[in-house]
Amino acid sequence: MGKQTAGIHHITAIVGHPQENVDFYGSVLGLRLIKKTVNFDDPGTYHLYFGNEGGQPGTIITFFPWENAPKGKIGDGQVGVTSYLVPEGSLSFWEKRLSSFDIKVETLTRFGEDYLAFEDPHGLQLELVARAGGTENPYPFSGVTADVAIKGLAGTTLYSSAPAETAAALENVMGLERVAEEDGLVRYKATGKIGNIIDLKNVSVGQGEIGVGMVHHIAWRAENDLDHLEWSSWVKEKGFYPTEVKDRNYFKAVYYRERGGILFEIATDGPGFAHDESYETMGEKLMLPKQFEEYREQMEASLTPVELRTIKPE
Ligand code: ZN
Repeated sequence: MGKQTAGIHHITAIVGHPQENVDFYGSVLGLRLIKKTVNFDDPGTYHLYFGNEGGQPGTIITFFPWENAPKGKIGDGQVGVTSYLVPEGSLSFWEKRLSSFDIKVETLTRFGEDYLAFEDPHGLQLELVARAGGTENPYPFSGVTADVAIKGLAGTTLYSSAPAETAAALENVMGLERVAEEDGLVRYKATGKIGNIIDLKNVSVGQGEIGVGMVHHIAWRAENDLDHLEWSSWVKEKGFYPTEVKDRNYFKAVYYRERGGILFEIATDGPGFAHDESYETMGEKLMLPKQFEEYREQMEASLTPVELRTIKPE
């Protein structure tokens, strides 16, 4: 019997100035900044995590802010669009809110569902879709109340340089079910209640390039450490080359690149974000893994200060 992921654990993207990032995802979208840490592989830069109140798997988006890096290009081998799940009936609230912040919003329909499409300040393609499922996010911030708050990730649209190969990886490795096809998109569903709908574009859109404003990787959920080891063997058995297990402090991770060029990660649900600071205060302080703690002073001095603040529409 093959393995099946519950769905997306998190999405990680490269963006520009960290304050613009915090203002957009924190203040405009009303997500909770659940962790402020550094990129463990490049500790001179931030790694910022946003999610629902508890930072549950399936609600998390994380950012590497590269302040002076060149712009990337969204294209094959990437997550092209990241979609968020909002409560049913809340799209008109969001359309008004985003417009009031001077964000250009387009409405579109896909697989019978209405979407609002827009970009973040650094060019990432985002969407909101109202759909039942997921749990209400009780984190109120800056004019976004629980009845309209983003519940977590709805899913993604993937762009692949070899769509048939990516389709095979989604079905035969990650254990997603193919559920529909429409206008050059194939829809897949994972078993979880959130972050579980993946649309794959079945033609090439042109090669993507790494840089600001593109998604770096998509992480899928593993239940626990044992399940994670099983995933690693399973991926190998299917003919891919997973990395060794990396301890990301808030989850364990292995990575492999599927044959359409998209970097897949498999991440454990636990231990989560409240194990090194309290649930109430998480996100407020710069958190460092043990190996970097002795360099805290230098790190804090070299990182651009960021502040979570209430901002008002213009
Ligand atoms: Zn990741």
